Amino acid sequence: MTIKKSLSNREHLLESMRTLSAELDYQTVLQSVISVASKLTNSEVASILKYEEADGHLHFLAAPWFQKDSMQSLRVPVDESIAGWVYQHAEPLVIQDVKEDKRFYSEVDQAVKFQTNSILAIPLLVQGRCVGVLEAINKVNRAHYNGEDVIILETLASQAALILENMDLEQRVTQMQAATDRLEQMKKDFIAIASHELRTPLGLIIGHSTFLREVIEEEHHEQLDTIISSGAKLKEIIENLSNVQNFQSGAASIRMKKFSLPNLIKENIDAFQEKAKDKKVSFHTDIKHPDLLLEGDAEKIGIALGNLLKNAVSFTSEGGHVFIIMEQIPGYAKVAIIDDGIGITAKELPHIFERFYQVESHLTRQHGGMGLGLSVAKVMIELHGGKIWAESILGKGSQFAFLLPLDRDQFNAAERVFQH
Ligand code: ADP
Repeated sequence: MTIKKSLSNREHLLESMRTLSAELDYQTVLQSVISVASKLTNSEVASILKYEEADGHLHFLAAPWFQKDSMQSLRVPVDESIAGWVYQHAEPLVIQDVKEDKRFYSEVDQAVKFQTNSILAIPLLVQGRCVGVLEAINKVNRAHYNGEDVIILETLASQAALILENMDLEQRVTQMQAATDRLEQMKKDFIAIASHELRTPLGLIIGHSTFLREVIEEEHHEQLDTIISSGAKLKEIIENLSNVQNFQSGAASIRMKKFSLPNLIKENIDAFQEKAKDKKVSFHTDIKHPDLLLEGDAEKIGIALGNLLKNAVSFTSEGGHVFIIMEQIPGYAKVAIIDDGIGITAKELPHIFERFYQVESHLTRQHGGMGLGLSVAKVMIELHGGKIWAESILGKGSQFAFLLPLDRDQFNAAERVFQH
């Protein structure tokens, strides 16, 4: 008779474990654990308590439905309760008559108008660490809890412990996410305020020094040129910052107009000719479709082109080469900027389009950027429904390429794909 009963109990237990592991909602699983626990140990009720670090008490996570509301707000002290003893010692405990045990914490009974007689309490262990307690209360007919009851509860406790651990992990991830979101917001606010506040005085510095240069003797031109060019550099940094910021806050817009991509490329190359000459870097252009007209915001595409050309020159050693190839592929114009410079490691490559990202090395530290050029270029190209990417071999060189949709229909379709 006993063997038959115990076999059927184990079958029940296995069946319950299978059902429990298929359940996704933690609260439902924990409620199921206590109802299976009370059923299989022949107890009146069962409950699950979790240790909360915030107040150093045990809280009821699962309790019989008729006591649930009143139990949820109860706090069980760790030092003066049976559950607390089990939590602290990480050992099972059977108390046949709680009246005889001074560890018993009677306030829960008073609060929910219940009378506890006997308790079987099992620790919930995660890798040897106790996170809570599973209790079965009042074995019916005042029977004694036995070894089989302990095994049943221990099996259920292992399941409950995993759930508690998962809940904790989820809570920590949510907290970390909230902290990251807060930091991101602070960063955005800082960028928005700083770039706004810096723009006006900087405009005045550049404006007045340009005026002074006109009226002052030639011997002071060099100093004023330094002020003007440093001011221009600062202006570029601020523009880059607010460009990325505007894009991320959704404030960026583009003014679509027909323009000649080959001309825009030539203009940009001209702008860097002097810098390239200083470094003895030569430009080689291959425009396969000199008449190509595109619909887009030439100014913004020019910013992307400029940033790529600037990098190609900056990260190429003296005597190096930069190739600019423009071609048409179905539906798109493709521009590739290829250099035989220092290159980028495979590890760094996936990050270079991130804001403020700079490859750390003594070579790049000589270069005075802010790690914004590529993220700005990406924003500008993607605003047009385009795509930008990089390939590189360390020590051999890099290729940065982008695609731009050829017409507005193409642009709209690409933009939809990009947004989803
Ligand atoms: P920065 O404005 O500081 O140059 P970017 O966003 O333009 O920042 O570039 C990010 C990093 O990518 C650079 O610091 C550099 O390490 C690397 N990088 C960009 N372009 C090239 C290139 N053509 N060759 C080698 N490294 C490059």
